[in-house]
Amino acid sequence: MSLDRDTLFIGGGWVAPASSETIQVISPHSEELVATVPDTTPADIDAAVAAARDAFDHGPWPRMTPAERIDVVAAFSGLYAGSLAEMADVITAEMGSPTSFANLAQTPAPWMQIEAFLGIAREYPWEEIRDGALGSPVMVRREPVGVVAAIPPWNVPQFTIMSKVIPALLAGCTVVVKPAPETPLDGYLMAELLVEAGVPEGVVNIVAGGREVGEHLVAHPGIDKVAFTGSTAAGRKIAAVCGEQLKRVSLELGGKSAAIVLDDADLTTAIEGLKFTALMNSGQACVAQTRILASRANYTNVVDALAEAVSVMQVGDPMDPATEIGPMVAQRQQERVEKYIALGQEEGARVVIGGNGMPEGLDRGWYVRPTIFADVDNGMRIAQEEIFGPVLSVIAYDDVDDAVRIANDSDYGLAGTVWTADREAGLDVARRVRAGTYGVNTYTMDFAAPFGGFKASGLGREFGPEGLGQYTELKSIYLENPPTQ
Ligand code: NAD
Repeated sequence: MSLDRDTLFIGGGWVAPASSETIQVISPHSEELVATVPDTTPADIDAAVAAARDAFDHGPWPRMTPAERIDVVAAFSGLYAGSLAEMADVITAEMGSPTSFANLAQTPAPWMQIEAFLGIAREYPWEEIRDGALGSPVMVRREPVGVVAAIPPWNVPQFTIMSKVIPALLAGCTVVVKPAPETPLDGYLMAELLVEAGVPEGVVNIVAGGREVGEHLVAHPGIDKVAFTGSTAAGRKIAAVCGEQLKRVSLELGGKSAAIVLDDADLTTAIEGLKFTALMNSGQACVAQTRILASRANYTNVVDALAEAVSVMQVGDPMDPATEIGPMVAQRQQERVEKYIALGQEEGARVVIGGNGMPEGLDRGWYVRPTIFADVDNGMRIAQEEIFGPVLSVIAYDDVDDAVRIANDSDYGLAGTVWTADREAGLDVARRVRAGTYGVNTYTMDFAAPFGGFKASGLGREFGPEGLGQYTELKSIYLENPPTQ
């Protein structure tokens, strides 16, 4: 089946783009053409914002009751549940996510998000009466924030689209989604399901394109709120524009999370967990635990166990269900990771396994070898900067206080884990690390709870009632007491 498209999803239908420029989606595995889609231009963004603005200012969606919107989103959820495998295959084709991960997380997790948000919306205090401090009642309403620009990255495209579009829809907002140019295909597939579910025209518009049109969208006067997931560098620029224009903004940015292995941890369990939390999606994950902290006494054991586990991970064709590490999304990303591997060696870290060069048995595709660095000092650039590939640094600590200090010695604060036989000791560490999410012997994101970053990892939260609240404006209506009639 061809994945090519020659139209954009604007105003509830498929419309011709303003220019004949195209995006070529190239397979990171075979380097062959997967599909061609239109490259969105500023004129297309203007059309998409106009459609979303019209749907918000004059259309039915914001004026429907929350219960009516919940019914439409529930219908979408049912359709989405029937498309998980197809959607996962599309994501694997466009960005090379191993199919094992795509079918575990790239599409089931967005569906779980939808279901969690539906549950939250059913209980949400859309309109409540409070006892006012002055003796009169006050009505507190949560109203839609307006027209939302949703800007996802390529690494978990449906995950980051859904975390914005679903709460926006439930709150009564309208949305312009701008998928990244590496991953335009899954968003257009989703558009078909939105139409089938009965989402009114103009409520969601999908226009894939690059950074320039992203900037145009963020600065557009028709946009009331920007919801962004991506790099910290882009997040800073977007926050500056939104600050100037006083637009609402939420930012999910980069990370350099630390996994602390305490001496009492069962090493087999810890390494099994770390293999996933550090290397999922071929290391292209914002929450990846790329700094592994081990005590000096236990250091060699941790390095050896990690090296043994990673050395047998299958690297290769992402469509092979046994593959654990696939290619990097693009040649530029492969080069970036290789640059960091070279830098680590220049900085004096020791390559335990991996290093630069193609993985064994592969002669094309944007692959890198999973690499573990030992003897890493937390001040090195490989320990401070987000690499976004399968490259891990093992860092030694003196005692638990030192481990917490090292974990916190980062510009980022997105996630972290601690591995221990003692849950209370783990919780004690969890309370002391400055990060938005933390796992004790696990890292399983739960969509009932807020997710987001401290420090340079972001602003605002997704998921949970807090994530829904990002798409509302609060209004207080003071009532007289007693009522005049
Ligand atoms: P990126 O910042 O280059 O791009 C992200 C998206 O923003 C893309 O759609 C891009 O076209 C657009 N964009 C880039 N600059 C823009 C600008 N100035 N104005 C408007 N739009 C702009 O990031 P990426 O390389 O696509 O994604 C990887 C990054 O995303 C990593 O840093 C990763 O940690 C982060 N990420 C964070 C989370 C999270 O939840 N915190 C989740 C996934 C990825």
